[in-house]
Amino acid sequence: MASSYVADKDQNDDCNDDSISASESPPPRKKAKRLCRFQSSWVDEFSWCQKVPGNIFQAHCRVCTRKFSIAHGGKNDLTVHGKSDVHLKNVAAAKSSSVAAFFVRSIPTGLDKQVFW
Ligand SMILES: [Zn+2]
Repeated sequence: MASSYVADKDQNDDCNDDSISASESPPPRKKAKRLCRFQSSWVDEFSWCQKVPGNIFQAHCRVCTRKFSIAHGGKNDLTVHGKSDVHLKNVAAAKSSSVAAFFVRSIPTGLDKQVFW
């Protein structure tokens, strides 16, 4: 419909800084456990895993094309996922399908932006 319309008005020079920090809330009670973050070295070990842009507490499985949390188990979560039935099935399916291989290869490694699918 209005696809040729370009909205240029949103860029406002004058900003009201006053209210920016208003939404910040004080930290809740201390958490017992530290959360695990994604380690880029895991990619070398688990060729199917990928960093999730914008979420260091998750890993993305390229074979299953799904994300899962690594916040609590860390590397162990990857190991568990890699041994899961779903993952193994997908690995087997991927091996027998060159289409899946194409998808895997089409993802640039080290991509830091949102994967758009
Ligand atoms: Zn998987």
